[in-house]
Amino acid sequence: MTMQAFKGITINPGRVAAKICLFSAIHRKQVPEYRLADDNEAVREIERFAKVRQECSDDLARVSAEVATTIGKAEAEIFTTQGHIMNDPKVIDGITGLVKTERKNVEWAIVKILGEFEEMMASLDSPYLRERSSDISEVKQRLLNKLGNQQAGFICEGQAHCRRGKERVIVAGELTPNMIVNMNMEKVLGFVTEHGGVTSHAAILARSLGVPAFHLFHDMFDARYRGDTVLVNGDNGEVLLDPDEKTVFNLIQTISAGETSPEIAVSPAGMTVAANASTLEDVRLARAMNADGIGLFRTEIFFVGAERLLSEEEQFVFYRQVQSIMKDRIVTYRMLDVGGDKPLPFLRLQKEANPFLGFRGARFLLGNPDIFSGQMRALGRLTRHGKIRILFPMIIDTEQMSSLIERSRSVLSGIDHDSANIEFGAMFEVPSAILQAEEIMRQIDFSSIGSNDLIQYLFAIDRDNELVSREYNPAHPALWVFLARLSTVARELQQPLSLCGELAGREGMPSKLIETGIVSLSVSPRLIPRVRRELTAHVRGSAQSSEKTHNG
Ligand code: PEP
Ligand code: MG
Repeated sequence: MTMQAFKGITINPGRVAAKICLFSAIHRKQVPEYRLADDNEAVREIERFAKVRQECSDDLARVSAEVATTIGKAEAEIFTTQGHIMNDPKVIDGITGLVKTERKNVEWAIVKILGEFEEMMASLDSPYLRERSSDISEVKQRLLNKLGNQQAGFICEGQAHCRRGKERVIVAGELTPNMIVNMNMEKVLGFVTEHGGVTSHAAILARSLGVPAFHLFHDMFDARYRGDTVLVNGDNGEVLLDPDEKTVFNLIQTISAGETSPEIAVSPAGMTVAANASTLEDVRLARAMNADGIGLFRTEIFFVGAERLLSEEEQFVFYRQVQSIMKDRIVTYRMLDVGGDKPLPFLRLQKEANPFLGFRGARFLLGNPDIFSGQMRALGRLTRHGKIRILFPMIIDTEQMSSLIERSRSVLSGIDHDSANIEFGAMFEVPSAILQAEEIMRQIDFSSIGSNDLIQYLFAIDRDNELVSREYNPAHPALWVFLARLSTVARELQQPLSLCGELAGREGMPSKLIETGIVSLSVSPRLIPRVRRELTAHVRGSAQSSEKTHNG
């Protein structure tokens, strides 16, 4: 395929290259219009509207509460405002009045009334107010989607390349706030849209989350493009479709650390902010953000991309590239974490009724000695050139930990390696391991908390299930009892402890973690400046208040 270039405008800067996932947030079907037989039918139609309006208002309140904790209070206001618009008596009376007088269906009345308001706002002089007409459009869309039982979603769902936006650039007709909050934003790499302005709410959200976003003057919302690779270059306002490898390498490589403001380019003294990574692009971005190392390298993603098992040599070459980008910064390689939310379909493993509680993580590693040795040898060979960390996922107890260490030593004894350059670590993400934290930590050199899974297993709550996402609560005090316990044990043993789950990137959480004694965090590379900003402000705040106490 030949590379094509398209021009557009940058909504949020940054450069990223990845495959495309197509997302549709828009009710594209024609809105139905029909007559109602009599007044009774009109009454029933108004009742239908009231029910749907209530459901949509509840959804908006939920989204607003979620955004307040995950992104910020100012951003949550977007959804509160949309709730006010939906429940504005002028809107309700306008729609129900029209259903009664015209004896027509509610979808038609919604489009008519909200369409008029939208047009009126769009014709105002102020660009800010003009952009706010998109709120009305979203309220309209939300009501129509609910009435028609339609859901916004990925058009490419079910196809091999579709990962519901994870590690992908999302191409959509329009970037809506609702779409942003319904995705796992730590994993989305960028957005390309055909509509939506620089000051739209969605743009504001994309900026607060640090996700590169781009508005294109070209129709890319086309099924032809799904799965293709796109390079979004927010620095020169260009989108490249099917870029060649050299272009990707040159453009992504040239983001230098100097582009980050000095204020956020380093972590406060005594704290580290490392990056979570799965691809070489992530590693380059981590380097560009001046990350204090890679706190979690998810090695399984390389296998997912290859759709087959990789040889020791292939893995070694890949890991060497990671090392050469990060240079002197330490990289923590997590041994394959297979199963549950990270299946490797090509392995054709036996189907399990409960894969999240099944043959996964550390169990999979111990049950597949060949895969384990291949990866351990590839990693061991790296140690001839420098220090690395090796992390074991889903540890459940001390016995499992010692089996893994023993197995690792036995594999390494058969190759040329430098044992002084290896540190072994455990992921604490299953409650039973925390109850044996001291015994486990005595066998290893460092620990990392996987809060995504820890919350899942502690509260019996599926981390990817939208139906229960309201109860997925990283601020829950029960979780913090566990975090404090790990922090205490690690400090007593004078051992490094970091947290690499998404919790570390949520607003307010870095400060709370520091207070708990967890001073090493690992987050998506794009979140590094934001986390550093919060830590710096927290340190300054604490210094000022202690100064006041001292002087007063
Ligand atoms: C975690 O569980 O918190 C974690 C960091 O690992 P993953 O999200 O890859 O399971
Ligand atoms: Mg995990």
